[in-house]
Amino acid sequence: MTKKVTAYIGLGSNMGKRCENIRRALALMGRAGGMEVKEISSLTQTDPVGGPPQGQYMNGAALVETELEAGQLLESLQTIEHELGRRRSVRWGPRTIDLDILLYGEEVIEEDALQIPHPRMHERRFVLEPLCEIAPGARHPKLKKTIRELCAACADG
Ligand code: ADP
Ligand code: MG
Repeated sequence: MTKKVTAYIGLGSNMGKRCENIRRALALMGRAGGMEVKEISSLTQTDPVGGPPQGQYMNGAALVETELEAGQLLESLQTIEHELGRRRSVRWGPRTIDLDILLYGEEVIEEDALQIPHPRMHERRFVLEPLCEIAPGARHPKLKKTIRELCAACADG
């Protein structure tokens, strides 16, 4: 039997029909192969952090069970971003869809193209709050704290 890993994906959109974009991304994730979407948080509207002036985001988080290696999961998510019309231009600029790997089991990965846990997740309330809804007890493998603890300690907002 293939090993399955529980991973958490951060979902964001601030262009076009934002909730629709996230809904379509989740549907494509379900069909991509090698991952199953098991839980979805509620979506909340948040102010943009960093980057150029841009519209408000809808943010959420999803729990996926996956047989993919972390690098393959990233590739698959980037294919979906592309399919939904995301074009990489300005770093941290507006986007139809942003799919970030927040946690991949309790693995720590520090490569140029992939850092897990997501390096800024613990300081961003728009990431922690939806994540806390579906994974309050999940552990950040570097900070050794649960998502609930990180959420309570987050200075942002
Ligand atoms: P951000 O999500 O920080 O706003 P982008 O979505 O434009 O930025 O992603 C830029 C790059 O971040 C991607 O090309 C990808 O290689 C890299 N990256 C590093 N770690 C992760 C991760 N955990 N999840 C998603 N992308 C990541
Ligand atoms: Mg991203």
